[in-house]
Amino acid sequence: MNSNITSTEPSDDWGDISDAELLDVQSEHLAPPDRSSPTLGGNVGDDGQSLETTEKRIDYLIKKWPNLAHLFERVKNRSTALSVPNQSPMERFLKRHLSVTQLCEQSWCEVKMAYGFIKPKVRMLEMQNTEVTTGASIHLARELEVKPNVVTVAAVTREDREALKLINMLQMVSALETGQLVREFPVFGVLEGMFFMGVVDELNRSDSGELVLSELKTRSHNSLPRPAQTKGHALQVGMYKLLFDSMVKGSVKRDHLLHNLQLDPNRVLGSDLQTHTQSLGLQAVTFRELLDHLLVVLTCSNLHAIDKLRLEYSHQSSGKLIGTREVAFEEAQLRTNIRGYLAYWRGERVPQGVEVEEAWKCRMCPYEETCDWRRDRSQRLMMVNKRAKLECPKSDDPKPNGSNLNGSKLGVEYR
Ligand code: SF4
Repeated sequence: MNSNITSTEPSDDWGDISDAELLDVQSEHLAPPDRSSPTLGGNVGDDGQSLETTEKRIDYLIKKWPNLAHLFERVKNRSTALSVPNQSPMERFLKRHLSVTQLCEQSWCEVKMAYGFIKPKVRMLEMQNTEVTTGASIHLARELEVKPNVVTVAAVTREDREALKLINMLQMVSALETGQLVREFPVFGVLEGMFFMGVVDELNRSDSGELVLSELKTRSHNSLPRPAQTKGHALQVGMYKLLFDSMVKGSVKRDHLLHNLQLDPNRVLGSDLQTHTQSLGLQAVTFRELLDHLLVVLTCSNLHAIDKLRLEYSHQSSGKLIGTREVAFEEAQLRTNIRGYLAYWRGERVPQGVEVEEAWKCRMCPYEETCDWRRDRSQRLMMVNKRAKLECPKSDDPKPNGSNLNGSKLGVEYR
């Protein structure tokens, strides 16, 4: 943005300016914020009108400079594509709870995750790619390795389907208590005020009796992932630990599950399911009875908090182990990160895309061609380079440190 713009009317050659810059430039023409009023969080217009939201600012600017309405409308359309005024993403996407993997996707790129809801077909195609489907088959095969006697039980209602998961959990708790390895263990509970669900890949006891949580990641490349990729994996196992620990400590309450999954506690389990529970020595007729039984068993078992978190990377085509990584559990930092991600879901901020340092992620993103964040980032970078060339005409010359004005090495800040 040129800092010497003083005209009260913006020039109309700003077609290539980014949204954020366009609004920022315009803010020079607005009155300063009224700090004395607690209700005004942003600028106010010439007429004293409050402009604390982007939408109000844009409407004001359109009224003030109708000849530039097309530019401001463009900004408005983009901002509402990813966020709707007065509606949080939880409300907009009709969500009552989140999954752990959703937060991991968010940690990769928030804008990509948001596009996944707005453009579900693209996401569906991405989920059908060979790497994802091969990974899913490997996980299923590993689960069946430790569950050789699969019994088919008819589930009629939603409560029946959830009851089956609870019965599996009861069996896995017994197996863990006797030192056996279990796979695909469901975890759930409230973290930072949000109900989360997830499925732990593997729980096992080490030779020294430590409870180890492992997450298997299959890779098409026969190499360990970059740190940017392991960041999401570390978040995932850390959240699993928080959830598992709260379950065995007795912090998970019956109503958390009933309310967030909208389940009827008094629903009588299907006859097939009742026969199955009886064959396992369980006396539960309603969903509530089964859930209460599981919560008591979890709390009274000899299971304790997870001791170790481990990531295991294996090569998809050869099936060979590439390597393992231990993950340090830093609860305070982890909770701070979760709160940061939840701020988006609660509508406290707009989604953030990846910055220039991680622009390589965009090259493997299905939304690359249409992503507004990526386009705005390129425009910002172009403007920075243009400005730098004006200020330093020999800027194309190689710099002593090897930088050739690629932005990040100039100490430029991107949003
Ligand atoms: Fe995120 Fe880049 Fe994909 Fe845009 S193109 S959604 S910024 S990864």
